[in-house]
Amino acid sequence: SHPHRKLSLLTPSGHLTLGNLLGALRPMAAGQHEADCFYGIADLHALTTPHDPARLRDTVRETATILLAAGLDESTLFVQSWVPAHAQLAYLLESTAYTGELNRMIQFKEKGRGVDSTRVSLYTYPALMAADILLYRPQEVPVGADQRQHVELTRDLAIRFNTTYAPVFTVPEVTVPPVGARVMRLDDPLRKMGKSDTSAAGVIALLDPPDVVRRKVARAVTDSDTGPDAVRTDPAKPGVTNLLDILSACGGSADGITTYGALKRAVTDAVVAELAPLQKRYAELAADPTHVDGIFRAGAARCREVTAPVLAAAEAAIGL
Ligand code: ADP
Repeated sequence: SHPHRKLSLLTPSGHLTLGNLLGALRPMAAGQHEADCFYGIADLHALTTPHDPARLRDTVRETATILLAAGLDESTLFVQSWVPAHAQLAYLLESTAYTGELNRMIQFKEKGRGVDSTRVSLYTYPALMAADILLYRPQEVPVGADQRQHVELTRDLAIRFNTTYAPVFTVPEVTVPPVGARVMRLDDPLRKMGKSDTSAAGVIALLDPPDVVRRKVARAVTDSDTGPDAVRTDPAKPGVTNLLDILSACGGSADGITTYGALKRAVTDAVVAELAPLQKRYAELAADPTHVDGIFRAGAARCREVTAPVLAAAEAAIGL
C-alpha cells in the first residue's frame, strides 16, 4: 500500500504569475502534510518553444527559489532533466499515444497557431507530461483548469498501457482548485494570465513590487456599467468577474463595494498582502543559492530512486 502521492510540475518559461500561485502553488502547498508530494520544474518542457539557454538557466533558479518561498519545503522538489527516467518513459508513451490524440490538444493548437515551424517537442509534449506524472504513481495531480485536458490524456495512456501490456501505472485523478483555477489577464479577461509575457500590463508576476501591482490593477479592463450592482460576478462582465475571483482567492471580500475604483483598491491590497510574505522569503533564499541548489539536488536523488523501478517495470512490460 502506497502513501497518498501528489505530483505537479511548472514550466520555467518565464516569471511565475499570480495565476500560477492561485491555480497551482497554493493548492500544492495546502496538502503537503497529508501526502507524499513531488513538485518539479519542467525544464524539458521549456525547450518546446524558442528559448535562450542562459535565460533558461536563470529561470530554473528563480522558479526553484519561488517554490521554496511559496512554502513547498515539506515536499520533494526537483528539476525534471536531473531525473533521466522522465525522457526515457516519454518515449515509451509516445509509442502508446496516437497522433490523432495529440492533434486534439488545445495547447498545441494554440501555441502552434500561425507559426509555420513549431518544434516537434511541442507536439509530443503531452507524452512527456504523461511520463512526468505516471513515473511517480500519484493518486492526485493538482493543476489549474488549463492543464485538465493533458491530465485526461495521461489517464487514457495509463489505462491503455496497463490493459495492453501489464498494470504498471496508477491512473491519477486530476484536482482543480475551487477558486483561482483560471486567473485571466487584467488587460484582456478572455485570455489566461500566462507567464510568457509578465512585462505586459495585464499580467501580475509574483515578484512584482507593490507599486507595479497597483499600476497593473488600476489599468484592469472593466466595463461601462455604472449601475448600483455593477460590481458582480457575471459571464457578460469578464473583467469584473476576474477581479472578484482574484479578490476572493486572495482572501479579500467585496462586501459593500459598489464602484470599480473601490474594487480595484481592494484587489490591489489583497494581492499585495498575498505576495508580501512570499517576496520577503524569496529575497532571503535568493541570497543563499547553494542552499536552494542542495534542496533540489537531494530531491532529484530521491526522484531517481522512486522512478527507477517504475521505468524498469514499464520497459519489461513493453518488451524491452
Ligand atoms: P503557464 O501556463 O503559466 O506557462 P504552466 O503550464 O507551467 O503555466 O503551469 C503551471 C501550473 O500553473 C499548472 O498547474 C497550471 O494549470 C497553472 N496555471 C497556469 N496559468 C494559470 C492561470 N492563469 N490560472 C490558474 N492556474 C494557472
